[in-house]
Parts: sequence; structure tokens; C-alpha cells
Amino acid sequence: MTMTTHSEEETAGVGLRLASQLQPGSVVLLIGDLGAGKTALVRGLAEGLGVAPDDVSSPTFTLMQQYRGGRVPLIHVDLYRLDDAREIDELGLEELGIDSVLAIEWAEKLPRPVPGAVTIRIEHRDGDERRVSVSGPGSP
Ligand code: ADP
Ligand code: MG
Repeated sequence: MTMTTHSEEETAGVGLRLASQLQPGSVVLLIGDLGAGKTALVRGLAEGLGVAPDDVSSPTFTLMQQYRGGRVPLIHVDLYRLDDAREIDELGLEELGIDSVLAIEWAEKLPRPVPGAVTIRIEHRDGDERRVSVSGPGSP
């Protein structure tokens, strides 16, 4: 499913609606350039899961953040600063995500495909326009 958004809030709304379909163990892979809106979408995911969305910032400098208190815990990972496949492997994302929803920015850096994951590609168009395509479990 592909849609066009025209604001940060609209992109967050895609995450908000997706959240209702997620459960512990769900993985959401986010692919798109810097400033595309990946973190904005995760903010919507957080809101949909019942986690305070204002707490969600880009974990670019912290690599990983966990948010509890929602219907399902959310783990938000940003692989921007990791380039070594072994380093990424050592994060142990598969085990970490078992009880949580795992949202991964720069997921194209993952060394292996993640079976059953939802993949979201965000493409920067003119100005505030973004093309958001969602594929994988639960999307038509
Ligand atoms: P990323 O995590 O992909 O690097 P962010 O979500 O941190 O991107 O930032 C996206 C930036 O683009 C924000 O400053 C946001 O306000 C702006 N923006 C403008 N239009 C949109 C849109 N349609 N969707 C998402 N973000 C948008
Ligand atoms: Mg980001």
C-alpha cells in the first residue's frame, strides 16, 4: 500500500494506524533518507501503542531506546551510525524484540532479511510531500 503524506503529523498517522495491527514480536523496518520521516512515523507508532509520543526522539546518537507503559513495549533502534554487520548482529535484536514491538530505522543495513516484518519505505518528494509505502504482514 502506497500513500502520499503532506506533513509530519500525516506520516505519524500512518504509524498510528499501523500500531493496532502490531503485537509482541512484531518488527517494523523503516527505510528512507535522512529527514524522510522515519522517526516521525515511529512517534505515531508509539502513540498508537499507548506510549507517550513526545518521548520519542531520534535515537541516532543513542542507538536504541525502550519505551514501556503502552499496550506493548516499543523498542526503537537507529542503525545510522553502524556499518559493520557483526556490530549489528551483536545487538541481538531478534531476542530483544520478543516481548516488544521493534522499530528499526536504516533497516537496509540489517545483514539478513527479517521474516514476517512490516517494511515501510519513505521517499522525500517536493517540499513536505512524502511517498510512504507499507508492505508485509497486515498490509493489502
Ligand atoms: P528521519 O528519522 O527519517 O531522519 P525525521 O522524522 O526525524 O526523519 O524528520 C522528518 C523531518 O521532515 C521533520 O523535520 C518533519 O517536520 C519534516 N517533514 C515535512 N514533511 C513531512 C512529512 N510529510 N512526513 C514526515 N516528516 C515531514
Ligand atoms: Mg530518524
